Amino acid sequence: MTTYGCGHKRSWNPGADLHLKGLCWDCRKAMVGQEIEFLRFGKPPESGYSYNYQSNRNEAGVSCYVVINGKVAATVRGEFEDRQAYIGRGILLGFGGDDEALVQIISIRKISGKKADRMR
Ligand SMILES: [Zn+2]
Repeated sequence: MTTYGCGHKRSWNPGADLHLKGLCWDCRKAMVGQEIEFLRFGKPPESGYSYNYQSNRNEAGVSCYVVINGKVAATVRGEFEDRQAYIGRGILLGFGGDDEALVQIISIRKISGKKADRMR
């Protein structure tokens, strides 16, 4: 039995790729098109597109992590930890090939690494 970050359960083992802190598929689908709070590491690209290194293509939206009740609803990848952290609000467009949320930014501001750590 696997419990997702949203509290929903799955009886089958979805495998090693699953972000256990993350949201189940139903919760993700329900959030697409909604305004959400996000956490991002690194300066967002001006274009509003992010580059996906797995699929070698651009994806609409800036990749970031969905924040729910002040906590990141995913496991943050270690290589992002040294980058400048940002929080903001945006419209969730979907999820990228790296399983990250893709967001159209409405507002964004820098936060300290310490503050970002407390959200994880
Ligand atoms: Zn769920």
